[in-house]
Amino acid sequence: MKPFQKNKSLAEFSTFGIGGAAHFFTEIETIEDLQEVLQYCHQHKLPFHILGKGSNSLFHDEGFDGLVILNKIQFCEMTGAEIYVGAGYSFSLLGIKTARKGLSGLEFASGIPASVGGAIFMNAGAGGPETCDALQEVTFIDEKGDKTIFAREDLDFSYRYSSFHKMRGVIAAARFVLTPSATARQKQLEIVAYRTKTQPYNEHSCGCIFRNPEGKSAGALIEKCGLKNAQIGGAKVSSLHANFIINTARASAKDVLDLAKYVKKSVKEQTGIELEMELRTIPKKYE
Ligand SMILES: Cc1cc2nc3c(=O)[nH]c(=O)nc-3n(C[C@H](O)[C@H](O)[C@H](O)COP(=O)(O)OP(=O)(O)OC[C@H]3O[C@@H](n4cnc5c(N)ncnc54)[C@H](O)[C@@H]3O)c2cc1C
Repeated sequence: MKPFQKNKSLAEFSTFGIGGAAHFFTEIETIEDLQEVLQYCHQHKLPFHILGKGSNSLFHDEGFDGLVILNKIQFCEMTGAEIYVGAGYSFSLLGIKTARKGLSGLEFASGIPASVGGAIFMNAGAGGPETCDALQEVTFIDEKGDKTIFAREDLDFSYRYSSFHKMRGVIAAARFVLTPSATARQKQLEIVAYRTKTQPYNEHSCGCIFRNPEGKSAGALIEKCGLKNAQIGGAKVSSLHANFIINTARASAKDVLDLAKYVKKSVKEQTGIELEMELRTIPKKYE
């Protein structure tokens, strides 16, 4: 096992570009590395946090008092329409690569700046399709370092939710089964074009801050309440997509959380609808 790094700034590991330091930090590249690190944490009662691409993670200004494990398990094996992929692999790249091979099922992934593990954990989706749709099995390492392979049928998924929210451990790899399609590449290109037109891609954000309430769009509600461009400190509601908060320059995590609280309160007062956070806040006490 590599020696842990100390007091590592987490800002560079979140697409928000915000965050204090991790007390300890390490990167893992294989499933065996991951098992070893989790065994160590279990034996030494060291709290850990697993990090993918940090595209849905707001690290608090106070940092994380434990070990942050950056997942770099990045293999990708394709056999016909079946893909066995490490959880640290880029989800967006997987969407592009499979569509280029004429495989359908993960076109929506292109442009989502996630890891495969983070996408499974969040059951990421866009415009209908979700990560769980083409999933066949997940290799999971529990907090003691033991490996289990879960079949898709043994797991629960719903809108931005997976069974892994209730489990202590880490998704290490996954198997997807896709469908041959002559139009996959065209569909994937259209998805990316639509994304770049409707989302603030060149700015620091963590995507949608709030979950869509049943049958409604959180972005449309926030926009209707006149909250586009609302700003606290360095955090600002995007003028392009109202469910995105942007780090304009030097936003703190507190700025983002204060702005999210203000948006939530204003939407509740004006529409009666209670928005719920999609963004994950680390440590959890700030969620
Ligand atoms: C520009 C932009 C566009 C986006 N568009 C979309 C979209 O269209 N649809 C959508 O659903 N989301 C979207 N997102 C949000 C984000 O990409 C997703 O939530 C994604 O699933 C997060 O993956 P990640 O690897 O970055 O996770 P992280 O932010 O690293 O982690 C998120 C959570 O997952 C957990 N986690 C990460 N890896 C693992 C693992 N291997 N095992 C167990 N738990 C793990 C973390 O501990 C944390 O709780 C967007 C974000 C941005 C910045």
